[in-house]
Amino acid sequence: MNVIEPASSGRSKGRGCKQNIAKGDLPFGEQLPNPFADGDMTLWFHLLCAAYRRPEPLHDLLSESPPEDGECSENLTELCRIGIEAPRLQRIAEAELAPSGRTRCRHRKEAIEKATWRLRLEYFEEGAFNPSGNIHLGCSTVFLTTTDTVMARVIHFTTELTDTQAKEIKEALQ
Ligand SMILES: [Zn+2]
Ligand SMILES: [Zn+2]
Repeated sequence: MNVIEPASSGRSKGRGCKQNIAKGDLPFGEQLPNPFADGDMTLWFHLLCAAYRRPEPLHDLLSESPPEDGECSENLTELCRIGIEAPRLQRIAEAELAPSGRTRCRHRKEAIEKATWRLRLEYFEEGAFNPSGNIHLGCSTVFLTTTDTVMARVIHFTTELTDTQAKEIKEALQ
């Protein structure tokens, strides 16, 4: 069963962002069959990360048993809806500077130049996020089929961005 319940320790990391889930936080726990053993496993996500990356199961849970903070749950439900309508949004893992010029863009297979910003994508399968290629930031609107929440997602999942970098990313996304 999927749940939203207070974290009992501060030791687990969120699956969406790999950042700590603080004790007392209210993460989303998604229960899935364990692909490596009998039984189930629970993956924990910060609520916002779950809305971005696992919108279907979070949306289902929110409509069945909304948490007491109604306002927060409305926001999350709306974010889930956006990600369900444009499912490629769920693949956004982070923006990064291309370490080499060897990768090709998933959109039109053109090379992504070294040291330019690219969007790293991941595909969720069997309880894990697996690499699913990269795209130019400039290809994101066509590839993702929307601009809605793209910048917010990129900023959320890309850690340690300077203001200048955030500005560069914003410009490249347009
Ligand atoms: Zn997170
Ligand atoms: Zn491209």
